[in-house]
Amino acid sequence: MEKLDMTKIEKTMEALRKNNMQAFFAENKEKAKEIVSQLLPEGCTVSHGGSVTLSQTGIRDMLKSGKYNYLDRSAEGLTRAQVLEIYKKSLLADVYLSSSNAVTENGELYNVDGNSNRVAAMLYGPDSVIVVVGYNKIVPDIKDAVKRVKTKAAPPNTVRLNCATPCAKTGECISLKKEDSFACDGCRSEQRICCNFVVMAQQRIKDRIKVIIVGEELGY
Ligand code: SF4
Repeated sequence: MEKLDMTKIEKTMEALRKNNMQAFFAENKEKAKEIVSQLLPEGCTVSHGGSVTLSQTGIRDMLKSGKYNYLDRSAEGLTRAQVLEIYKKSLLADVYLSSSNAVTENGELYNVDGNSNRVAAMLYGPDSVIVVVGYNKIVPDIKDAVKRVKTKAAPPNTVRLNCATPCAKTGECISLKKEDSFACDGCRSEQRICCNFVVMAQQRIKDRIKVIIVGEELGY
Protein backbone atom coordinates (compact mmCIF):
# COMPACT_ATOMS: atom_id res chain seq x y z
CA MET A 1 0.00 0.00 0.00
CA GLU A 2 1.23 3.47 -0.89
CA LYS A 3 1.84 5.94 1.94
CA LEU A 4 -0.73 8.76 2.27
CA ASP A 5 1.33 11.87 1.60
CA MET A 6 -0.67 15.00 2.46
CA THR A 7 2.07 17.32 1.15
CA LYS A 8 1.79 15.67 -2.26
CA ILE A 9 -2.02 15.80 -2.15
CA GLU A 10 -2.05 19.49 -1.21
CA LYS A 11 0.48 20.29 -3.97
CA THR A 12 -1.74 18.45 -6.47
CA MET A 13 -4.88 20.25 -5.28
CA GLU A 14 -3.17 23.62 -5.58
CA ALA A 15 -2.02 22.79 -9.12
CA LEU A 16 -5.56 21.66 -10.09
CA ARG A 17 -6.93 24.98 -8.81
CA LYS A 18 -4.36 26.88 -10.85
CA ASN A 19 -5.71 24.95 -13.84
CA ASN A 20 -9.24 26.23 -13.08
CA MET A 21 -10.47 22.98 -11.57
CA GLN A 22 -12.09 22.79 -8.16
CA ALA A 23 -10.22 20.48 -5.79
CA PHE A 24 -11.48 18.71 -2.66
CA PHE A 25 -9.96 16.25 -0.24
CA ALA A 26 -12.08 13.49 1.29
CA GLU A 27 -10.55 11.44 4.11
CA ASN A 28 -12.49 8.36 3.08
CA LYS A 29 -15.20 6.93 0.81
CA GLU A 30 -18.04 8.16 3.02
CA LYS A 31 -16.73 11.73 2.95
CA ALA A 32 -16.29 11.51 -0.84
CA LYS A 33 -19.93 10.44 -1.16
CA GLU A 34 -21.00 13.36 1.01
CA ILE A 35 -19.10 15.86 -1.16
CA VAL A 36 -20.60 14.36 -4.32
CA SER A 37 -24.12 14.62 -2.89
CA GLN A 38 -23.49 18.30 -2.09
CA LEU A 39 -22.41 18.89 -5.69
CA LEU A 40 -25.47 17.11 -7.16
CA PRO A 41 -28.60 19.26 -7.35
CA GLU A 42 -31.77 17.27 -6.68
CA GLY A 43 -33.57 16.43 -9.92
CA CYS A 44 -30.48 16.90 -12.09
CA THR A 45 -29.75 14.57 -14.99
CA VAL A 46 -26.63 12.63 -14.07
CA SER A 47 -24.53 9.95 -15.68
CA HIS A 48 -21.05 8.49 -15.39
CA GLY A 49 -18.27 6.69 -17.17
CA GLY A 50 -17.18 3.13 -16.42
CA SER A 51 -15.45 3.29 -13.07
CA VAL A 52 -14.47 0.85 -10.34
CA THR A 53 -13.94 3.83 -8.01
CA LEU A 54 -17.56 4.99 -8.31
CA SER A 55 -18.73 1.49 -7.34
CA GLN A 56 -16.24 1.13 -4.46
CA THR A 57 -17.30 4.47 -2.96
CA GLY A 58 -21.02 3.62 -3.13
CA ILE A 59 -21.59 6.66 -5.36
CA ARG A 60 -23.25 4.60 -8.09
CA ASP A 61 -25.75 3.23 -5.58
CA MET A 62 -26.44 6.75 -4.32
CA LEU A 63 -27.47 7.78 -7.85
CA LYS A 64 -30.25 5.17 -7.69
CA SER A 65 -31.91 6.91 -4.72
CA GLY A 66 -34.65 8.41 -6.90
CA LYS A 67 -33.48 11.98 -6.20
CA TYR A 68 -31.89 12.27 -9.62
CA ASN A 69 -32.65 11.58 -13.25
CA TYR A 70 -29.99 8.88 -13.44
CA LEU A 71 -28.97 7.69 -16.88
CA ASP A 72 -27.91 4.21 -15.78
CA ARG A 73 -25.87 2.43 -18.44
CA SER A 74 -25.75 -0.72 -16.29
CA ALA A 75 -29.48 -1.04 -15.63
CA GLU A 76 -30.72 -4.61 -15.94
CA GLY A 77 -32.07 -5.76 -19.27
CA LEU A 78 -30.65 -2.98 -21.44
CA THR A 79 -29.88 -3.93 -25.02
CA ARG A 80 -26.59 -2.86 -26.60
CA ALA A 81 -28.52 -0.26 -28.62
CA GLN A 82 -30.04 1.18 -25.42
CA VAL A 83 -26.63 1.39 -23.78
CA LEU A 84 -25.27 3.29 -26.79
CA GLU A 85 -28.25 5.63 -26.56
CA ILE A 86 -27.43 6.32 -22.89
CA TYR A 87 -23.83 7.10 -23.87
CA LYS A 88 -25.13 9.71 -26.30
CA LYS A 89 -27.66 11.18 -23.85
CA SER A 90 -24.94 11.37 -21.20
CA LEU A 91 -23.13 13.94 -23.33
CA LEU A 92 -25.99 16.31 -22.48
CA ALA A 93 -26.35 15.37 -18.79
CA ASP A 94 -26.22 18.20 -16.22
CA VAL A 95 -23.58 16.37 -14.22
CA TYR A 96 -21.12 13.69 -15.30
CA LEU A 97 -19.19 11.55 -12.84
CA SER A 98 -15.98 9.73 -13.50
CA SER A 99 -12.69 8.72 -12.02
CA SER A 100 -9.38 9.45 -13.76
CA ASN A 101 -6.65 7.05 -14.79
CA ALA A 102 -4.11 9.44 -13.28
CA VAL A 103 -3.81 12.91 -11.73
CA THR A 104 -0.48 14.67 -11.95
CA GLU A 105 1.13 16.84 -9.31
CA ASN A 106 1.11 19.53 -12.03
CA GLY A 107 -2.70 19.57 -11.95
CA GLU A 108 -3.50 17.52 -15.04
CA LEU A 109 -5.93 14.65 -15.54
CA TYR A 110 -4.84 11.84 -17.84
CA ASN A 111 -7.30 9.35 -19.30
CA VAL A 112 -7.11 6.65 -21.94
CA ASP A 113 -10.33 5.22 -23.39
CA GLY A 114 -11.50 2.63 -25.85
CA ASN A 115 -15.17 3.53 -26.50
CA SER A 116 -14.31 7.08 -25.44
CA ASN A 117 -17.81 8.00 -24.28
CA ARG A 118 -16.17 8.80 -20.92
CA VAL A 119 -13.47 11.18 -22.18
CA ALA A 120 -15.96 12.78 -24.59
CA ALA A 121 -18.30 13.77 -21.73
CA MET A 122 -15.41 14.89 -19.54
CA LEU A 123 -14.20 17.22 -22.29
CA TYR A 124 -17.45 18.81 -23.44
CA GLY A 125 -21.20 18.72 -22.83
CA PRO A 126 -22.17 18.28 -19.17
CA ASP A 127 -22.11 21.58 -17.22
CA SER A 128 -20.41 19.93 -14.31
CA VAL A 129 -17.93 17.03 -14.19
CA ILE A 130 -17.08 15.40 -10.87
CA VAL A 131 -13.92 13.29 -10.82
CA VAL A 132 -13.38 10.99 -7.83
CA VAL A 133 -9.87 9.57 -7.44
CA GLY A 134 -8.04 7.56 -4.81
CA TYR A 135 -4.70 9.11 -3.74
CA ASN A 136 -2.96 6.12 -5.34
CA LYS A 137 -3.59 7.68 -8.75
CA ILE A 138 -1.45 10.77 -8.12
CA VAL A 139 1.76 10.74 -10.17
CA PRO A 140 4.50 13.38 -10.60
CA ASP A 141 3.91 14.18 -14.29
CA ILE A 142 2.41 13.08 -17.61
CA LYS A 143 5.29 10.71 -18.31
CA ASP A 144 4.44 8.82 -15.13
CA ALA A 145 0.73 9.05 -15.94
CA VAL A 146 1.40 7.29 -19.27
CA LYS A 147 3.36 4.59 -17.44
CA ARG A 148 0.65 4.26 -14.80
CA VAL A 149 -1.96 3.50 -17.45
CA LYS A 150 0.27 0.93 -19.16
CA THR A 151 1.14 -0.88 -15.93
CA LYS A 152 -1.59 -0.25 -13.34
CA ALA A 153 -4.79 0.86 -15.07
CA ALA A 154 -5.23 -0.78 -18.47
CA PRO A 155 -3.99 -4.33 -17.65
CA PRO A 156 -6.42 -5.01 -14.75
CA ASN A 157 -9.21 -3.31 -16.70
CA THR A 158 -8.69 -5.68 -19.63
CA VAL A 159 -8.94 -8.59 -17.19
CA ARG A 160 -12.13 -7.11 -15.66
CA LEU A 161 -13.64 -6.55 -19.10
CA ASN A 162 -12.49 -9.94 -20.36
CA CYS A 163 -10.47 -8.53 -23.28
CA ALA A 164 -8.02 -10.75 -25.10
CA THR A 165 -5.10 -8.31 -25.03
CA PRO A 166 -1.42 -9.03 -24.31
CA CYS A 167 -1.55 -7.01 -21.07
CA ALA A 168 -4.39 -9.16 -19.73
CA LYS A 169 -1.89 -12.04 -19.71
CA THR A 170 1.35 -10.30 -18.74
CA GLY A 171 0.13 -7.42 -16.52
CA GLU A 172 1.71 -4.65 -18.58
CA CYS A 173 1.42 -3.06 -22.00
CA ILE A 174 3.29 -4.78 -24.79
CA SER A 175 4.63 -1.36 -25.88
CA LEU A 176 6.87 -1.22 -22.80
CA LYS A 177 9.08 -3.85 -24.42
CA LYS A 178 10.24 -1.11 -26.81
CA GLU A 179 13.07 1.05 -25.55
CA ASP A 180 11.50 4.34 -26.63
CA SER A 181 7.83 3.49 -26.14
CA PHE A 182 5.51 6.35 -27.10
CA ALA A 183 2.30 7.06 -25.12
CA CYS A 184 0.01 5.86 -27.91
CA ASP A 185 1.99 2.72 -28.76
CA GLY A 186 0.23 -0.49 -27.91
CA CYS A 187 -1.10 -3.80 -29.10
CA ARG A 188 -2.96 -4.62 -32.32
CA SER A 189 -5.73 -6.51 -30.54
CA GLU A 190 -9.26 -5.80 -31.76
CA GLN A 191 -10.19 -5.58 -28.09
CA ARG A 192 -7.56 -2.97 -27.28
CA ILE A 193 -8.96 -0.51 -24.71
CA CYS A 194 -6.31 2.18 -25.30
CA CYS A 195 -7.51 4.20 -28.31
CA ASN A 196 -7.79 7.84 -27.30
CA PHE A 197 -5.26 9.51 -25.02
CA VAL A 198 -6.47 12.66 -23.29
CA VAL A 199 -4.66 15.19 -21.11
CA MET A 200 -6.86 17.76 -19.40
CA ALA A 201 -4.80 20.77 -18.40
CA GLN A 202 -5.85 24.40 -17.80
CA GLN A 203 -9.61 24.65 -18.29
CA ARG A 204 -11.44 27.45 -20.04
CA ILE A 205 -14.58 27.12 -17.88
CA LYS A 206 -13.53 27.68 -14.28
CA ASP A 207 -14.71 25.00 -11.81
CA ARG A 208 -16.58 22.94 -14.42
CA ILE A 209 -14.24 20.11 -13.42
CA LYS A 210 -14.32 19.18 -9.74
CA VAL A 211 -11.72 16.73 -8.50
CA ILE A 212 -12.23 14.89 -5.23
CA ILE A 213 -9.04 13.21 -4.02
CA VAL A 214 -9.85 10.44 -1.56
CA GLY A 215 -7.43 9.39 1.19
CA GLU A 216 -7.95 5.72 0.35
CA GLU A 217 -6.60 3.51 -2.43
CA LEU A 218 -9.36 3.16 -5.01
CA GLY A 219 -9.79 1.86 -8.53
CA TYR A 220 -7.05 0.94 -10.95
S1 SF4 B 1 -2.47 -1.01 -25.85
FE1 SF4 B 1 -3.18 -3.14 -25.67
S2 SF4 B 1 -1.55 -4.22 -24.49
FE2 SF4 B 1 -1.25 -2.02 -24.23
S3 SF4 B 1 -2.28 -1.55 -22.30
FE3 SF4 B 1 -3.73 -1.11 -23.99
S4 SF4 B 1 -4.94 -2.96 -24.24
FE4 SF4 B 1 -3.11 -3.50 -23.04
